[in-house]
Amino acid sequence: MTHSSGRSKVLVVEDEPDISDAVVARLDGEGYETCTAVSGPEAVRIALDELPDLIILDLNLPGFDGIEVCRQVHAVRRIPIIMVTARADETDMLVGLGMGADDYLTKPFSMRELVARIKVVLRRSVPEPNDAEVLAAGRLSMDIGRRTATFAGQPVHFTPTEFDLLRALVEANGAVMRRDALLHKVWGYGDTAGSRTVDSHVRSVRRKTEDEIIRTVHGIGYAATEAPTVPS
Ligand code: CA
Repeated sequence: MTHSSGRSKVLVVEDEPDISDAVVARLDGEGYETCTAVSGPEAVRIALDELPDLIILDLNLPGFDGIEVCRQVHAVRRIPIIMVTARADETDMLVGLGMGADDYLTKPFSMRELVARIKVVLRRSVPEPNDAEVLAAGRLSMDIGRRTATFAGQPVHFTPTEFDLLRALVEANGAVMRRDALLHKVWGYGDTAGSRTVDSHVRSVRRKTEDEIIRTVHGIGYAATEAPTVPS
């Protein structure tokens, strides 16, 4: 969604004033429109009033936490969320919960990295109407243009990151992709996030596809299954 001003609007949810001020100043400088919230309940209210294009969401907030904010907002509107955690293992826990954030950042993060992530998530949330391609692997079918998927004939919801990860592997057609290549292709950067991010998202995708589509190639990376497509 692009607002009438032509600028993307970002809601910054952060209860530490120093961090919030720094993020808002940087985003203003980058040309984004911004709004802010300092607690869980306020974040939900402002998100649904202002309908931002993206939410930067601190996990640990007064009132209720970022998980609950994500749940309540996404129950109404599918707004992309970058979740900010205090520790890397919190990110693993959140990906494991499948709570639907589009990306994760661990404090302390650089403003340069934050802006890079924002650009990737915003670019990804724009639909690709001319892309009518359908990809299939095993019992998985992916409609690239609509960004929807079915597994074993049933609709399955992937987060935007999971969808792009799966797409990259299926497009590689059984070829092995190294973790750093996946990081570069799916996340748009290769040096800051590390392989834990890839592994966490692979675990989540596997859970949703009965561990059928992605295989581990030990010491190298991941590949999509070469199992024949079952006619539906
Ligand atoms: Ca906090």
